[in-house]
Amino acid sequence: MPDLTTVPARKGKAAILASSQKLRLVNTYGQQVVDTWAFNRADMAEFMSTEHSHAALLKILPTTGDTMVSNRRRPILTFLEDTSGGIHDTLIAACDARRYEMLGVAGHHDSCADNLRAALAELGLAPPEIPAPLNMFMNIPVGAGGSVSFEPSIAGPGSHVTLRAEMDLVVVFSACPQDIVPINGADCTPKDVHFEIFGSP
Ligand SMILES: [Zn+2]
Repeated sequence: MPDLTTVPARKGKAAILASSQKLRLVNTYGQQVVDTWAFNRADMAEFMSTEHSHAALLKILPTTGDTMVSNRRRPILTFLEDTSGGIHDTLIAACDARRYEMLGVAGHHDSCADNLRAALAELGLAPPEIPAPLNMFMNIPVGAGGSVSFEPSIAGPGSHVTLRAEMDLVVVFSACPQDIVPINGADCTPKDVHFEIFGSP
């Protein structure tokens, strides 16, 4: 039986991944956006960079076989498999308290930025900043003229992506708590996702 770790709906979870180990991230109930970060375990100032990956890949949508790079332009995480329909986002910042305030939320609302901080704190770590996440399963189509829109994820229940670490990593997932804009499905209800780490270092 695979040893699945739960990322609870609206919350985050960090994991240690040795170089060449693999990670399978499962969209257990479907349509859940998962903000994803990867930090060099030896130096948190180096992390997966969507901007640098755009230049390395010459596209904004990583697919099977593509390697995301760090802010030092070094390979960090490779897409090995994707059964989700291949729609992810590398353009949109992590949600944060101010984002929900601007959406009209009064009082506390969970956010991916807070989840990143909390998940790393569980390991005694802190992020050097809130890097732009790889928004797994997030559907942000780019329209004519460069417009973008927030659309429901197309990832089906049980669909997954498999990633390989290209250096020793701390990986963080946040099951995005967005429940106002329908990125997590039309019911605007964040759900648990799961992951497993496998393979020898
Ligand atoms: Zn979020």
